Amino acid sequence: MVEEVSINDLITRIERGELKLHELDKILGDSNKATEVRRAYIEKVTGVKLENVGKSVIDFNTVVGRNIENTIGAVQVPVGIAGPLRVIGDYANGYYYIPLATTEGALVASINRGAKIVTESGGARSKVLNDGMTRAPVFVVPSVVDAVEFVNWVNEHFNDIKSVAESTSRHARLVSIQPFIVGNNVWLRFKFTTGDAMGMNMVTIAVDRAAKYIMNNFPKARLVALSGNMCVDKKANAVNFLLGRGKTVVSEVVIPREVLSKWGVTAKDVAEVNYRKNLLGSALAHSYGFNAHFANIIAAIFIATGQDVAQVVESSMGITWMEPLDNGDLYVSVTLPSLEVGTVGGGTGLPTQRELLQMLGVYGSGNPPGTNALKFAEIVAAAVLAGEVNLILALARDELARAHERLGRAGKAGTGDARSPKS
Ligand code: NAP
Repeated sequence: MVEEVSINDLITRIERGELKLHELDKILGDSNKATEVRRAYIEKVTGVKLENVGKSVIDFNTVVGRNIENTIGAVQVPVGIAGPLRVIGDYANGYYYIPLATTEGALVASINRGAKIVTESGGARSKVLNDGMTRAPVFVVPSVVDAVEFVNWVNEHFNDIKSVAESTSRHARLVSIQPFIVGNNVWLRFKFTTGDAMGMNMVTIAVDRAAKYIMNNFPKARLVALSGNMCVDKKANAVNFLLGRGKTVVSEVVIPREVLSKWGVTAKDVAEVNYRKNLLGSALAHSYGFNAHFANIIAAIFIATGQDVAQVVESSMGITWMEPLDNGDLYVSVTLPSLEVGTVGGGTGLPTQRELLQMLGVYGSGNPPGTNALKFAEIVAAAVLAGEVNLILALARDELARAHERLGRAGKAGTGDARSPKS
């Protein structure tokens, strides 16, 4: 605790304009104390007691300068688990409890039922098809003739650019540079593998070094922006959908006819909902999500495990495919072209997030590096599959609104029903 007198003294100096809120960490040499003083100041100026915001297990000295600035405390989000979910992947193999941080009633119950159906059906087979974090700086050159010359030069000097870029990290490995030309503008979409890190900082630092090398050696090219929006980070887009970003993952299951009949549906009933809703409805809406609710599962896992939550935007793009088989079984797959996940870096080391990654057996560096992030991607895709299976099945059973009435509007705790769907 900072002494009351010193808190008041600091607040007075802030009020007089002698001290800025963000300078407290440096002046006090302790971000926990700085957090307390800032919170006290905000309480004073807003007249709102931030008692609960002040309760946290986070040591702010470990996050300020790394994850956040100007801290006043923390928010808490409830975490539930769905599972056990059987995952059969190249890296994940076993039964997993999926941590989901959410405030949407019925979501965990929904994924839990989906996990039960998928596991009963033999489990989710997950496969990572492509792996690579991207950054695409935009350069300007005098003319389109120079643009073509520039791209040829980059191709010819790929190995030099690669060694410059990779010198910034032990884990970043340059895979490709894909050029795009519009008039006299050139985007170079750099793609790296990044070990177990999601890789955005790592790749940005590597591309910054590479861009400087490029301009020094091809002076006609001027860097306009290190991120030229063809990366694409935190925006819904077609580029990642087609070319991938982060992990491109598929997870699939065949649900036997007998399992479907227990829920009072046939493969055709369920597949029809998928065709008309996820495929036709999404085509009509020109959506990037040919799915029911990837974002629900992705957001809840991202919050629970310290991923960059804004990347839910492109990580939730993807397609749910359902096909009734001749024997009455139902083939289901989810394809996530741009799942951006890591098990080191970012928010993965925060106390609660780290525990939940440990619960999945994926925290930190894999052996060899990169395998923990691949395993995690397979588990996330399997959880998305479980979420899709349950919701489409629930719609086929026409039980959606009933579940929300029961679980989303419950007035008291403890009314959850694991057999219920969600929206
Ligand atoms: P990071 O924490 O910046 O970098 C990962 C660090 O972990 C590196 O120092 C790396 O060492 C080290 N590391 C140790 N073991 C590793 C392993 N097995 N695999 C990979 N790295 C390992 O994390 P990041 O994933 O690059 O960046 C994530 C952060 O970027 C998030 O906080 C996100 O919010 C933020 N972000 C940044 C931008 C941006 O433009 N900069 C954009 C969006 C999001 P080496 O470097 O020596 O390999």
